[in-house]
Amino acid sequence: MATTTSENKVLKGGEFLIKPSDHQELFIPEDFNEEQLMIKETIKSFVDQEIMPLTDRIEKLEEGLIPSLLEKFGELGLLGTHMPEELGGSDMDYITNTLIGDEVGPSGSFTVSYNAHTGIGMLPIFYYGTEVQKQKYLPKLITGELKASYCLTEPTSGSDALAAKTTAILNAEGTHYILNGQKMWITNAGFADIFTVFAQVTGENLPNGKSGFTGFIIEKGMEGFTLGAEEKKLGIKGSSTRQIYFENVKVPVENLLGEVGKGHHIAFNVLNTGRFKLGASCVGGTKKLVSESLHYAMEREQFQSPIAAFGAIQYKLAEQAIRSFVAETAVYRTAQLIQQAEQQFKSDGHDPARAKREAAEQYALECSIVKVVGSETLDYVVDETVQIYGGMGYSEEGHVARAYRDSRINRIFEGTNEINRLVILNTVMKLAMKGQLDLMSAGMAVQNELMNGEAASPTYDGSYAQEQLLIDNFKKALIMVLGTAAQQAMSGKLDLKNEQEIIMNLSDIIIDIFDAEGALLRVMKIAENYPEKKY
Ligand SMILES: Cc1cc2nc3c(=O)[nH]c(=O)nc-3n(C[C@H](O)[C@H](O)[C@H](O)COP(=O)(O)OP(=O)(O)OC[C@H]3O[C@@H](n4cnc5c(N)ncnc54)[C@H](O)[C@@H]3O)c2cc1C
Repeated sequence: MATTTSENKVLKGGEFLIKPSDHQELFIPEDFNEEQLMIKETIKSFVDQEIMPLTDRIEKLEEGLIPSLLEKFGELGLLGTHMPEELGGSDMDYITNTLIGDEVGPSGSFTVSYNAHTGIGMLPIFYYGTEVQKQKYLPKLITGELKASYCLTEPTSGSDALAAKTTAILNAEGTHYILNGQKMWITNAGFADIFTVFAQVTGENLPNGKSGFTGFIIEKGMEGFTLGAEEKKLGIKGSSTRQIYFENVKVPVENLLGEVGKGHHIAFNVLNTGRFKLGASCVGGTKKLVSESLHYAMEREQFQSPIAAFGAIQYKLAEQAIRSFVAETAVYRTAQLIQQAEQQFKSDGHDPARAKREAAEQYALECSIVKVVGSETLDYVVDETVQIYGGMGYSEEGHVARAYRDSRINRIFEGTNEINRLVILNTVMKLAMKGQLDLMSAGMAVQNELMNGEAASPTYDGSYAQEQLLIDNFKKALIMVLGTAAQQAMSGKLDLKNEQEIIMNLSDIIIDIFDAEGALLRVMKIAENYPEKKY
């Protein structure tokens, strides 16, 4: 359970809970190379010069504005940085793609549209489409000629997404599925051309006898496809969000996505990446607010002094900076894990789509952590930004009020944070049951330490010895609590599945361990490799 080791190997999903990580092996933002820094600067200039000045017009949902910005992004080659070259993309690595999402982060409504298009919009086709479907749609989605949308939620099925009521019935000729139903809260719906829609295949004429939750590619303009009005929202007002209605929409069988009855694989695997991307953009938004809070606090004077001189404000600034640092570390730590897994899968001979999909799936737990940490850090930081700005933070004249409203959605979509906390604990338990996460041996080692005094972790020396020991102890505490919960559940004394207060708290401990360890490893690496930046 040590925090460093020289024989460190790439950790599998959840293994950070029981295995050490080497700080020198961790990718941290200070490690960006020249090319990555150039990309970062390009995106930052685009956001500052091309997007931010249009904020008022974007907020009014000016027709064609967000689509035209997406097209400009496409012209710069920024919609396909995660796609293979043969489809028109530039196949950049996962960390660089994360950096792009991070830099787009501060742009509010545009961020949501960009993430929906490049993430949950494009990925279903990339991950699960046939070669024909990929060739037909992806090159145009990469240039921005077509825009994408993802339709899972319905009025009566949000968190319980698999309870969708939209139906797809194969016609007697076997040429088309007839779609009927309704989707709700669909991002980009107002201008998208391509929609991944999930529906229940049902009826008398089942394809090869199969039925159930299934994905389809729907094109705007198909007869019987209509859009509702734009939703009036609390924030991200410039992002198009509408209902979609399907009334006897004839969908060619060629537009079936993946396999009948396997739509849940598409829905959930796409969400792993969607959650990660959301966390990365939240961190981008967070960093901008931290820097703005600092500038404002240094300039604004009260009682003949900059407000930054007051301890109460200094505390806020420090807390904002610490939380932002921690969340950013979690994002890039996860990006590196996914990138390494993707490379491994590719060298094992997987095609690029499968390699990407399975890499994200392997780190579903870490993706959920990034989603929760990113969104909750942004909410904390934006709230304190309003406080530091005082009345100016409450005014619609500035952009802080908008950022405050925009931030709130992140805890709701891509799986609410409650659902992600359920996913976190559930994934740990599943990995342990499947023998992929050896919690049992870790638990026995901790028990042995408690009973016989045989230390389950090494002794440390050096400047961060005490912190390293603390991280080990966090992990031991979790393992003890998890072990107790599992024992009580097995003996029938605890119905863990229905004790959500316990699950939420266990997930919080898991999140805190990932965060605390990442932050310590980053600080240790900075101290050794970048002493000029030492914290
Ligand atoms: C602006 C916006 C854009 C969106 N974009 C898209 C999109 O592009 N595509 C798409 O398909 N969907 C989209 N959504 C839908 C979004 O994913 C859902 O709103 C979200 O999944 C929550 O579903 P719900 O709103 O029905 O809330 P509900 O599921 O009704 O949840 C209400 C509350 O109950 C809690 N809850 C529910 N179930 C449980 C449980 N088992 N245990 C504990 N707590 C629980 C939730 O955490 C939440 O706090 C968007 C939503 C919004 C608001």
